[in-house]
Amino acid sequence: MVDRSGIADVIDGVDGPGVVGAVERLVAIPSMGGTDGEIDAQRFCEEVWRADGFDVDAWDIDVAQLSAQPGFPGMEVERTEARAVTARLPGTGGGPTLLLLGHTDVVPPGDIAAWSADPFTPRRDGHRLIGRGSCDMKAGVAAMWYAARAIRNAGIRLRGDIVLAAVSGEEDGGLGTYALTEAGLTADACIVPEPTDLDLIPANGGALTFRLRVPGKATHASRRTEGVSAIEKFVPILHALQDLEARRNLEVDPLMHRWPVAYPLSIGTVQAGDWASTVPDLLIAEGRLGVALDETPEHARADLEAAVARACAADTWLAEHPVVVEWWGGQFASGRTDPGAAFIDRLGRVHATLGHRPPATYGGPYGSDLRLLVGAGIPTVQFGPGESAAAHSPDEWVDVRDVIACTQTLAAFAVDFCGHD
Ligand SMILES: [Zn+2]
Repeated sequence: MVDRSGIADVIDGVDGPGVVGAVERLVAIPSMGGTDGEIDAQRFCEEVWRADGFDVDAWDIDVAQLSAQPGFPGMEVERTEARAVTARLPGTGGGPTLLLLGHTDVVPPGDIAAWSADPFTPRRDGHRLIGRGSCDMKAGVAAMWYAARAIRNAGIRLRGDIVLAAVSGEEDGGLGTYALTEAGLTADACIVPEPTDLDLIPANGGALTFRLRVPGKATHASRRTEGVSAIEKFVPILHALQDLEARRNLEVDPLMHRWPVAYPLSIGTVQAGDWASTVPDLLIAEGRLGVALDETPEHARADLEAAVARACAADTWLAEHPVVVEWWGGQFASGRTDPGAAFIDRLGRVHATLGHRPPATYGGPYGSDLRLLVGAGIPTVQFGPGESAAAHSPDEWVDVRDVIACTQTLAAFAVDFCGHD
């Protein structure tokens, strides 16, 4: 049973219109990774959390120094600045610390024509709040903020601390969370309110960004048989990668069974040639390789490199001129917290006690900050409003009812987890 004393007060204290307004304020900041907006969103959190009376600790991250460290999780955009922001609601002592962590960076809007309105002007359509970052994951950041606010406003004295953390650079590697764990941030449990449709996600597959350089031999297209087309030489490589994906998904962890492909291998960009009537002498393809739960990134990289090497060995030209594999950008290891961890079960019970659908528990097929937190010894689960399918898409949206439900559950769970006098 969940002890409801204190919980009723805190639920009453959740400001529904306020948290929805907070999502809108965050969406209005165009915080694409590597832009000034990314810093602006971090400074926004710093200011509003200070104004709310939390103990704010914020500093400029030394990006050059951090990115030189061996454990650096990668970066795919130019960035010389980043800001770390944490806010503490101190407890009276003797209780566990709960970390609520969310990223404020968003991916670019893509083709603006695919949007029905400006991506950074939040708008409403019924229960939908639409805008870039609404789902991933400004709704979650607003929910964790307003959960802590409700506890403070209800005057409940928790024994343990609540720590809010806003991070940037999540979408292209996770430098923000890496900076916090390197600075010694710790907690007894962490909830990351990424869009999980209010399910519990205690594990993530990883994702490794790679680049392939497929060589050819240029010649005039009228005498193409005397050249070697890098595009044609990519075909057996692509087939080898498709076979590799199938093999790597033959047996997957039960937590990943709901996904048609638990550990996807996908080519995202292909560039070749510079003239229509020239046989292309180079093809560059970029993609991402999924990392299985409990598999090391080193093992996954070796698996792809071996598959490419075998395909090259089977081709006369590629045997002499092998494809070069490079690993660059985001290198997301997989990660997991034991799904049977007591706090995860408790979070699901609190959510159901408030009258919501009891959450399902499963692993996510994407990489996220979870693996950095688990790697730093902080048991972590993702639980937040929004469907991950809406993330990164045009007219990205979140259901405001789920934002409010998440805020209530986070507030109630914090009271239950941290204890109160
Ligand atoms: Zn996200």
